[in-house]
Amino acid sequence: MRDNPFENAIRQLEKAAKVMNLNKDILELLKTPDRILQVKVPLKMDDGSQKIFNGYRVQYNNWAGPYKGGLRYFPTVDLDEVKALAFWMVIKCAVAGIPMGGGKGGISVDSKAMSNTELERLTRAFCRALAPNIGPEVDVPAPDMYTNGQTMAWFADEYAKIVVAPSKNSLAVVTGKPIGKGGSAGREPATAKGGFFVMEELLIKEKILKQCFESLSMTYGAQDDRQNVKIAVQGFGNVGGIMAELCWRAGYKVVAVSDSHGGVFSEQGLNIGEVIKHKQSTGRVAGMNGTSELTNEQLLELDVDILVPAAFENQITKDNVERVKAKYIVELANGPITPEADEILAKNGIKSIPDVLANSGGVTVSYFEWQQNLEHSHWTEEEVFAKLREHIVPAFNRVWQLHQEKQIDLRTAAFCVALDKLQSMWYNAIAKEN
Ligand code: NAD
Repeated sequence: MRDNPFENAIRQLEKAAKVMNLNKDILELLKTPDRILQVKVPLKMDDGSQKIFNGYRVQYNNWAGPYKGGLRYFPTVDLDEVKALAFWMVIKCAVAGIPMGGGKGGISVDSKAMSNTELERLTRAFCRALAPNIGPEVDVPAPDMYTNGQTMAWFADEYAKIVVAPSKNSLAVVTGKPIGKGGSAGREPATAKGGFFVMEELLIKEKILKQCFESLSMTYGAQDDRQNVKIAVQGFGNVGGIMAELCWRAGYKVVAVSDSHGGVFSEQGLNIGEVIKHKQSTGRVAGMNGTSELTNEQLLELDVDILVPAAFENQITKDNVERVKAKYIVELANGPITPEADEILAKNGIKSIPDVLANSGGVTVSYFEWQQNLEHSHWTEEEVFAKLREHIVPAFNRVWQLHQEKQIDLRTAAFCVALDKLQSMWYNAIAKEN
């Protein structure tokens, strides 16, 4: 049976609440979302038939600011998955120190089987269904799995048509838009870039990389050290594909990558530039010359220094965790490790940078996009990456420090950092009321 991601998320919350002695009222409040929107999304298909899809938006918590989180189009999307993803957004925004709350949404749909025109009509219908309950100051969606900048451009366009008083600020209803449509420079690679920054911080802390500062927005670490670090990446989409490319360009040995059709492996290291071209021409990474094939399950069990899950939840579970040989895990997917597996990884001495920190670059740059839309300004990619580093590296250091001080795993440390901030927000709100 599939692990329930929301139950897993609540177990993570309870574990951290116990460590930091979180106020019991706050714990209860954080165990359920503020609001659940369940909508029907009618769609006229290209052949003239009509289908109705189930759509969701979970507005989990907004103590820090407007609800924020992506929209996922995938057949297995259900309420428990969306609730878990929305909850993790609350923790993520608090760890990253950005003034936004947590939300998430999605449609249970096989978007890969749809034409572009069907996807556009679906997105516009979803926007109309959600419009009364979202907005730049209320709830700001973004892309997630099987949605992208184009999806956000359709969404923003539809929203501007139907809101009662559209303004220049209406653009800020979603982030992750293409640059010509109000998007921010650097949003597309932001999640991977943030993951790359924290991965290098970890390697420096663990004395695997020597610090060799290059520039604020660029990577740092000595090239020679990087060549000795073997990396495997599961998922080759916006997050995994860009992470693999960043690592390869920086001189790491990326030995395996995969997508939904399976993976490729090379002991000498893959030429990720060639893998990208191969994927563009064939639609998959498998079958590239000079590589051997492997399954997604085999990729997770490779003897590498760093494993990067960048696809789905629940990839490392009690069933396969004992076979995981990586020394470190950088969780770019949301929820890739179940709580049982987490305990075993810790026992086996495998450190994992948790999703709520490792992939927070995406929401951080989404927040920058929202800010630029509201201020009607535009930042360069260099500025965006410099600001991203200024956010994510101190966030990593706070989590690392707590992990060392209290001898707790990095996920629990990240949750404690976030819960401490949420607790202060709650007390401040109560003080204002009285
Ligand atoms: P995407 O749709 O761009 O790519 C998903 C990738 O996963 C594709 O390469 C697909 O082939 C692959 N995939 C699908 N099923 C798979 C399977 N069973 N095994 C291995 N690979 C499989 O999605 P994305 O935006 O890259 O998101 C990936 C993960 O990162 C998700 O967990 C998402 O929630 C998380 N995330 C994304 C962002 C963002 O900014 N896009 C931010 C934070 C977290």
